[in-house]
Amino acid sequence: MRIISQICEYWPLKRLAALTDEDVADMLISCTTAAETDVSTPPVPKQQRGSITLAGSGPGHPALLTIATLRAMRTADVILADKLVPSAVLDLAPRRALVTIARKFPGRSTDAQDELQAAALAAAQAGRRVLRLKQGDPFLFARGADEARWFGERGFRARVLPGLTSALAGPLAAGVPVTSRGVADHVVVASGTAAGGAAARMPGRVAGRTAVLLMALHRLRGVVAALTADEPKGGEGEREGAAWPADTPCAVVERASCRDQRVVRTSLRHVCAAVDELGSRPPGLLVVGAACEALHKHGGAWAVEEGCDEFEQLADWAIGDEALWTA
Ligand code: SAH
Repeated sequence: MRIISQICEYWPLKRLAALTDEDVADMLISCTTAAETDVSTPPVPKQQRGSITLAGSGPGHPALLTIATLRAMRTADVILADKLVPSAVLDLAPRRALVTIARKFPGRSTDAQDELQAAALAAAQAGRRVLRLKQGDPFLFARGADEARWFGERGFRARVLPGLTSALAGPLAAGVPVTSRGVADHVVVASGTAAGGAAARMPGRVAGRTAVLLMALHRLRGVVAALTADEPKGGEGEREGAAWPADTPCAVVERASCRDQRVVRTSLRHVCAAVDELGSRPPGLLVVGAACEALHKHGGAWAVEEGCDEFEQLADWAIGDEALWTA
């Protein structure tokens, strides 16, 4: 029975759900024949000091988690995840971990952030291993620095683990090489939304530049106008540098890396009409520049590509190999 209770505690729900009677029988046989069958992590010491880890979960697909973040998930007592972290990733939390998802609704994201931080601190003070899980990378538009500072001021030095940012993995999953010899030699990552939901300053056009704009699609019209207008309505504050020509290639990449990824290849001239017609599938980003056509050309005003299966087999391989992530 011990082995059954251990796998129930430590294996992800998905994996447990996929077990067949034969798997269980095989496991029991191997358990009685092998001297040591290590499916567990060590028991939690009663008086352990609490800890806080701030980790990035990558763009969404579990195969793009780092081994460090996966280990942090597998050993956490309490996981406090941002709303964007998809369920395919959260499914990897052990059953014994308490998983809470931020309730970040428009207009009250600061409250949700405060609530989550306070809950993380209280759990760490009670001796729990706390994981704050953030989409992408925790230091890229994710308030990771604010949180690290806040915990530090209250006596917990947060361990910060990087994640693959959607700003780079998103374009890649859509077949857009953000730099590519002879096409693009630098990349600028910016947010389309400034503090309090206001318009953010857009990067101007510079030869060889790829611009990746996060948090931009819900106010796409304003973003495109700021990128392309000869004289932006909001004056110089709205864009730094030259206007992008309306025929500049761009792509909308939504749910990058996930099975329901969608890529819309178009130009700044047509992107608003494309999104009006197709609707949106958040989270998504806008990538702008000649790099969008380095590998994929399309005819017509826009072209839509549905789905992404690049990472499916990889996830089975990486997540199926417990040696990679069991502490
Ligand atoms: N820290 C995150 C960014 C958080 S800001 C990172 O490094 O990726 C939230 C924005 O990230 C969203 O509005 C969207 O623009 C972008 N984003 C996050 N995940 C995404 C995904 N899977 N596909 C496309 N865009 C994504």
